[in-house]
Amino acid sequence: MGLARRLQNHPRLLAAGYKANLWIAMRLGFVIRVIGAQRLARWLYAPEEFAKRQIFDCRMCGQCILHSTGMTCPMTCPKNLRNGPCGGVRANGHCEVKPEMRCIWVDAYDRSQKMTTYKDELHILQPPVDRRLEGTSAWVNLMTGRDKVSAAGWNDPPHAEG
Ligand code: SF4
Repeated sequence: MGLARRLQNHPRLLAAGYKANLWIAMRLGFVIRVIGAQRLARWLYAPEEFAKRQIFDCRMCGQCILHSTGMTCPMTCPKNLRNGPCGGVRANGHCEVKPEMRCIWVDAYDRSQKMTTYKDELHILQPPVDRRLEGTSAWVNLMTGRDKVSAAGWNDPPHAEG
């Protein structure tokens, strides 16, 4: 088993790291006011991509929901599903499209069960991914609130978090 997978199987630890980063990011609004979101994104993009690709095989969708999916990146699903598995999961828990690969939603469920913080977020209905954010920094989008702007026509269901 690779190091990344071993790490991902400790979602509680990763969630704690996420929470710490979130705490810092939410207090750095002044940085955006001083230097601007675009410049900050230029600085943050490479380290964010490097770190998240190593650990989560991140695809830089720009709208990170890792903490809601058992610290398992939903964009690694060959169908890019963000709301649970398709109907094609094999009996052995592997992917319909890539039989050699374990379904990422099987992993997401298993890992979410090990979590304390964010555990119930697996049930949140996620809005459609905004493809315009692909290749941008999810951290900066979080800080500016851009990642919360849903596509026109999408109505947040009552139980979803904003
Ligand atoms: S949800 Fe998006 S930003 Fe988060 S790890 Fe996956 S591709 Fe990267």
